[in-house]
Amino acid sequence: TISKADGSTHSFFNQDTQAALNLRYQLESHLVDALNKNELSLHYQPFINLKNQKVIGAEALLRWHNPILGNVTPDRFIALAERNGQIIDIGNFVLHTALAQAAKWCRELDQEFKIAINISPLQMRNPRFSEHIADLLTLYQLPPTALELEITEGMLMQDEHIAHNAIQKLQELGIRISLDDFGTGYSSLSYLQKYSFDTLKIDRCFINKLEENEQDRELTKAIIAIGKKLNLVVIAEGVETLEQDAFIRHEECDLGQGYLYGKPITAHEPPVSGLLSPLNNHYF
Ligand code: C2E
Ligand code: MG
Ligand code: MG
Ligand code: MG
Repeated sequence: TISKADGSTHSFFNQDTQAALNLRYQLESHLVDALNKNELSLHYQPFINLKNQKVIGAEALLRWHNPILGNVTPDRFIALAERNGQIIDIGNFVLHTALAQAAKWCRELDQEFKIAINISPLQMRNPRFSEHIADLLTLYQLPPTALELEITEGMLMQDEHIAHNAIQKLQELGIRISLDDFGTGYSSLSYLQKYSFDTLKIDRCFINKLEENEQDRELTKAIIAIGKKLNLVVIAEGVETLEQDAFIRHEECDLGQGYLYGKPITAHEPPVSGLLSPLNNHYF
């Protein structure tokens, strides 16, 4: 507790708690209108085939710009949207926007192009989720193989049964399922045993200190080896340096995603042409 010049006292604890509550309340009240006010948009981050350096798709990543709050990162508002149920509407906005964009790119580009979309547990709780996805693919005239849905271990733990059915139905349609942020949740390995995934995404926390950390190198090697043994496509997230790129390439990781290959960007140009980080011009 501190004494102020006017003689009153103030507790740091109360101040901080109040500030945190105010901020959360502010975020929440602005988020309610974000969709209607067109404040949400998508950025797209390319991922490349490490064998030939070709961009083969992009991950759709939500962006929120509010005139008062400025840019708010998904880490600050996705959990909030999950708590108040708004993630259903927001998730639908993401699906429509990303699939429409992917369809456009598939028509423009003379090559394979995949769109990866992050899915929240609440979206998957809808028993007609797979039908909903199938309808959207028909609407935007995209083949199911062009879509990859990214789910995290956290969601699987909450809704084991529902997730299992949803994953199976989606895969029967030909849609690929990716286990995102692999290695950061609980019992990662038991998920690999319980569900059949198509892709395993190694979390950025293993990749970003590969140069300095022997243990991270061993863990990354082991994760890639497990993925390959299980016939999964393995993708490394958060690749930022040529050393990290060389390491995962040497370990025969299939795909890479990270600032080295390209930061998330708006959809003005296909992620396959230009707008990639100047750092890696030599790749393209
Ligand atoms: P994620 O799905 O694991 O996405 C990858 C995150 O890593 C993105 O953060 C991306 O911008 C960031 N990233 C990619 N490469 C690098 C790199 O080289 N270095 C660094 N430092 N970061 C890199 P972002 O866009 O802030 O998204 C954070 C998380 O929010 C996502 O993690 C995902 O879990 C969630 N999210 C984003 N968009 C959506 C969405 O449309 N729906 C849902 N349900 N969740 C979303
Ligand atoms: Mg993801
Ligand atoms: Mg991830
Ligand atoms: Mg994540």
